[in-house]
Amino acid sequence: MSATNDELFDRARAAIPGGVNSPVRAYGSVGGTPRFLVSARGPYVTDVEGREYVDLVASWGPAILGHAHPEVVEAVQDAASRGLSFGATTPAETELAELIEERIAPVERLRLVSTGTEATMTAIRLARGFTGRDVIVKFAGHYHGHSDGLLAEAGSGLATFALPGSAGVPADIAALTLVLPYNDLDAVRTAFAEHGERIAAVIVEAAAANMGVVAPLPRFNASLVEIAHAHGALVISDEVLTGFRAGPRGWWGVEAEFPGAYTPDLLTFGKVIGGGLPVAAVGGRRDIMERLAPLGPVYQAGTLSGNPLAVAAGLATLRAADDAVYAALDRNAEIVSNAVSDALSAEGVAHAVQYAGTLFSFVFAEQPVFDYAQAKAQDVWRYAPFFHSMLEQGVSLPPSVFEAWFVTAAHDEAALGRIVDAAPAAAKAAAAA
Ligand code: PMP
Repeated sequence: MSATNDELFDRARAAIPGGVNSPVRAYGSVGGTPRFLVSARGPYVTDVEGREYVDLVASWGPAILGHAHPEVVEAVQDAASRGLSFGATTPAETELAELIEERIAPVERLRLVSTGTEATMTAIRLARGFTGRDVIVKFAGHYHGHSDGLLAEAGSGLATFALPGSAGVPADIAALTLVLPYNDLDAVRTAFAEHGERIAAVIVEAAAANMGVVAPLPRFNASLVEIAHAHGALVISDEVLTGFRAGPRGWWGVEAEFPGAYTPDLLTFGKVIGGGLPVAAVGGRRDIMERLAPLGPVYQAGTLSGNPLAVAAGLATLRAADDAVYAALDRNAEIVSNAVSDALSAEGVAHAVQYAGTLFSFVFAEQPVFDYAQAKAQDVWRYAPFFHSMLEQGVSLPPSVFEAWFVTAAHDEAALGRIVDAAPAAAKAAAAA
């Protein structure tokens, strides 16, 4: 018999720190052995022991069409047959940039990179290069990748400079980041009143989805832009997770439909624009973007940037993601969230569904939450038994309560039915915790 999950995890831990190549995969907050996956198709993933799960991770966002969508796989195979990487310009890179610029009006120029971390890192360097200032404002509970200045934790009190959020981040670098409570415009005004002349940019998740889903309050993003601009600072809207997932034009498009439309100076993308392969991007105002090398003095580069396979996957994904796909994401999010919410209610488990477009997550609290302090104060211990009950019943959820749930357009009646059927027992397990 081939190796079990447990055996593979032991072997992995002897070769790879913690056995994983990205920490949350280690099941640290829910306990147990991570499943080693060997294949994925449509709404399902299959582990090495041959168990199939309905997947609500979707590779942490990219797989809006479902796994191994035939058009995406064919595009990648076709690209592969013509060469894996050239380290030179390709026509498809321009097509991807044009497609994103057509859909998202504030994006006048776009540069492709390989990861969301690179995209936000480049956006920050650009903002600093453009404004000649050093300080960055970010919000507690927002994740923008693992670059030094963005792994910063709030000191006590409002508008204080941050401490390193990870060993290995120099205090001097963390001290250039101001960490504020999310959805708190007074904190933003105070920070700008005290430090406005030093602030290069505010970086914000377009809708927060890395502390669970926490949507911005109405006009929060628009007000951020007004306040920052009044002080000569830029706004970087991080759409790595929300872009082309929260809606067809990302979270920017969701708000563009309502009063409160906002125009960030720079935006970052990732996940869906690579369709499951490594593509991310930074885009925005032409005058800022054209400060990038080779036109300007802000340096950025990448051997595999705009990789032909990755760009083919991204283009095929975005082209296939028509209105019907977004309608399916919406509908599937509603079916799953309603079923789980009903099951939790039936067991008397205090919870709220947190929505941002087609994104959602659950918080184990009496009321919806609006910032990180509230999100952290929920009954976090209820999630591990809930997660494991779902997993045992063949439903794969994100292994942390502080993550969004990701449906795909491929979740059909059979897949949704399995989630709906699994919810009551998982709710019982959460209630008993
Ligand atoms: N920004 C946001 C909003 C993200 O959710 C993530 C990843 N989850 C990143 C940036 C970093 O992207 P990557 O993991 O590709 O470096």
